Amino acid sequence: MNNKVSNDNHFDLIVVGAGSGGVRAARIAANYGAKVAIIESVKVGGTCVLRGCVPKKLLVYGSHFASEIEDSEGFGWQVDSYKHDWQKLIDNKNNESDRLNKIYLNLLSKTTIINGFAKLISQNEVEVNGKVLTASSILIAVGGKAYMPDIQGKELCINSDDALDLKKFPNSIVINGGGYIALEFAGIFASFGSNVTIVYRGANILRGFDSDISKLITEELRNSKINVYTEMEITSVSKTSDGLSTLLSNGEEIISDEVMFATGRVPNTPELGLEKVGIKTGSIGEIIVDGNNETNVKNIYAIGDVTNRINLTPVAIAEGQVFSDNRFGGLNKVCDYSNVASAVFTQPAIGVVGLTERQAEELFANKGGISIFKTSFKPMKQTLGGRNTKIYIKMIVSKHDNKVVGIHGIGDDMPEIIQICAVAIKAGATKDDFDNTMGIHPTAAEELVTLK
Ligand code: NDP
Repeated sequence: MNNKVSNDNHFDLIVVGAGSGGVRAARIAANYGAKVAIIESVKVGGTCVLRGCVPKKLLVYGSHFASEIEDSEGFGWQVDSYKHDWQKLIDNKNNESDRLNKIYLNLLSKTTIINGFAKLISQNEVEVNGKVLTASSILIAVGGKAYMPDIQGKELCINSDDALDLKKFPNSIVINGGGYIALEFAGIFASFGSNVTIVYRGANILRGFDSDISKLITEELRNSKINVYTEMEITSVSKTSDGLSTLLSNGEEIISDEVMFATGRVPNTPELGLEKVGIKTGSIGEIIVDGNNETNVKNIYAIGDVTNRINLTPVAIAEGQVFSDNRFGGLNKVCDYSNVASAVFTQPAIGVVGLTERQAEELFANKGGISIFKTSFKPMKQTLGGRNTKIYIKMIVSKHDNKVVGIHGIGDDMPEIIQICAVAIKAGATKDDFDNTMGIHPTAAEELVTLK
């Protein structure tokens, strides 16, 4: 191999990975006039656009129509027959992914896009497709990939990448895990009519969320006919003439069309050559960076899920923006990780921002404590729709300064509502600020300004 470096092969910045974070960093650096190469082994767009947030949300939207049609009867509609074409949904979803991929390619028009698998060679060198490129800075933004525990029969099981592209709709599915992906896919498959079983190893799903959210969403899942097993593990999966046989740790057997593992994601670091260059990684392979996104090796930086900080698309994008603004725009920005709101697109959905009750109790134990305001009510739509579901909102306030430090909710519009609550919390809004705000009637969100 010819390792000689010509000027064409030298860049100010090489970005490895063209997901949300990498694309943002590459685009902003190029806008500042940097010569940028971005290397991607699959397709430009990354997890969010191709295998995560976007296709998942399209399936969530698609699945909502089933309940809309059922609930429409109470509003006088008579829908005599309807059926769903799974393959059409998957095809249309894939067309949308292709459209977004093209938009991302356009965003990168000032950069050199290289399709291939990158390996680090030194603090300034990357090898791709047998060629060595050099750069003043290298940014690793390769994201993560689905993790599957090593159980017997795991090769028969699917992960979320596969679930987004199933050729045939599963009439029954077992989903292992109790986190974001497990619950979101449980909702999608159940709403389309699949018989869904969640198997979770812990006592309460959505570990780390406020305990009320965990408890109430479990009730909602069970109300929507999803079987939820807690404190249970899958010991093996095997093929039978009736479908896949899943054995549980209590000896029970479940037969289903598919078994999905949604047991977390791990950084995509193997094969990157990190050891060769001496980049420090953590227990699950995440790249360790400082507050400036720099690794222990000078000139090499990392952002997004590969650093396993807060694994959310908007966070990766913010990290990419801050990286390029600082490195190529001469700015001195820092990423603010406080009060990052997030949503779980369950059905009904969850939105959360700020501290959980438990975190707030601990934090304010010696500072006057906290007040809790809660409400739970039937959504107006369901008075005629007839569905047995509830909206739930909880607000946590620190007593010493009356500031709202956490809001947690369950309800169809909760992700939209919580996004704006996050602005209020970041701006330091007090409970009085919420109380002094007129509501919009009739909405679910008005409950936030009338909490007693
Ligand atoms: P999560 O970390 O949310 O959930 C993983 C689940 O798998 C947990 O319930 C965990 O249990 C369980 N688990 C882990 N290892 C094992 C094992 N060996 N055996 C059995 N169960 C196991 O990961 P996800 O895969 O759901 O999602 C990955 C990340 O992607 C999320 O953390 C989030 O950052 C992001 N994401 C965000 C979304 C959004 O914003 N709406 C949507 C989807 C993903 P335990 O609780 O006991 O650890």
